[in-house]
Amino acid sequence: MSSYIDLKYINEISARLSQFKKKGDYLFNFRCPHCGDSKKSKTKARAYFYRVKNDMFFKCHNCNLGQSLTNFLKFLDSKVYEQYLLERYKGSAPSTPQPKFTNFKPEFKEVDILDGLTPVNELNEGHPVLQYVIDRKIPSKYFSKLFLCNKFMSFVNKVKPGTFPHQKGEHPRLIIPFYDINNKVFAFQGRAFGKEQPKYLTVKLDENKQKVFGLERVNLQQHIHIVEGPIDSLFVDNCLAAAGADLTLKVEPSNVTYIFDNEPRNREIIKRMYDVVEKDYNLVVWPDDIKYKDINDMIISGMSKAEVQTIISKNTFAKLEALTKLSYYKKC
Ligand SMILES: [Zn+2]
Repeated sequence: MSSYIDLKYINEISARLSQFKKKGDYLFNFRCPHCGDSKKSKTKARAYFYRVKNDMFFKCHNCNLGQSLTNFLKFLDSKVYEQYLLERYKGSAPSTPQPKFTNFKPEFKEVDILDGLTPVNELNEGHPVLQYVIDRKIPSKYFSKLFLCNKFMSFVNKVKPGTFPHQKGEHPRLIIPFYDINNKVFAFQGRAFGKEQPKYLTVKLDENKQKVFGLERVNLQQHIHIVEGPIDSLFVDNCLAAAGADLTLKVEPSNVTYIFDNEPRNREIIKRMYDVVEKDYNLVVWPDDIKYKDINDMIISGMSKAEVQTIISKNTFAKLEALTKLSYYKKC
C-alpha cells in the first residue's frame, strides 16, 4: 500500500514544483527541478511522477533523469525524505482515504493533447520544419503555436481513437491547433511535408464545434476577415480561417469580408463566393493581375502584409457590385 504514502508526499511537495499538474490518478506533470526544464519556455514542463506497480517514480523527458520517488525526495528536501522513509517502512496501513489535492485544484488542468509534440520555436536552427515555417514567412510570434508531430497517424489515433484503421504510411506533419475562445484546443490541422494526401487534414476533437481557426485572437466587435487556410489567416488583420466550413457568425454581414483562394476555375469556390454575396457579406474579388493562388503565396513572393491588406481593401465588394465583379472573375 505504498502508493497512498507516495501520493501523500507528492501532495505535500507539489506546491514547490513549478507548473505542477495532476494528469491522472497516478500521473503528475511539472517542471524538472534537476535540469530546470526548457530554457526558452517558462511553461514547458517535462518531468513526471508516474506509477509502476505500487511505487511512484520520477522521470524527466528533458534531461532524461529517472529515479525513485525516494531518491527524488532525498534530492528535494532531506527532512521530508526522512519522514517519508519512517512512514513508508514502518509498514502501517493508512486509515485515512487517498488525499484529494484540494489545495491545488485550480492548477489541475485537463490533459493537454499537444503534450509530447515539439513547438516549432523549440526546434534547433536548421531543422527542416523550422526552415519550412521560415520559408513560408510565418511571423515568429506564432512559432510557439505550431508543432512538429513526427508520427502523425499514431498521434491522431491516440487523441481520437480509431481515426486511422492502420498506421501504414506513417509520416510527420506540422500541427496547427485550433483554439476556442477559452484557449482550449478543440481541433487541429495536420499539414503534410511530403506527398501524403490530403495535404491538409483537419481533425475535430469536439464534433459540436465549427472548424474555425483564430477564435482566441479575433475581436468580434471589429471588422472580421474570413479566409480559407489557417496559415493565410496569420497575415490578415482580425482574421479567422474557416477551413472549408460553412461558418455561421452572430455578426452583421456588413462587418465581415470573405476572402477565398484565387481560383477562378474552381467551381466549388465560385459557388461559395456567390453564396456569401447572397447573404450580404463583403467579398474580395481578386483583380486579374494577381496570379498568386492564396495570401501566403503573395507573402512568399515578397509582398508585405500591408500591401496584401491594401489589395484586399481595394477589391472588397458587396451586393450588386460584387455580383458584377464575380461575373468577370469566374472562368468556369
Ligand atoms: Zn530534467
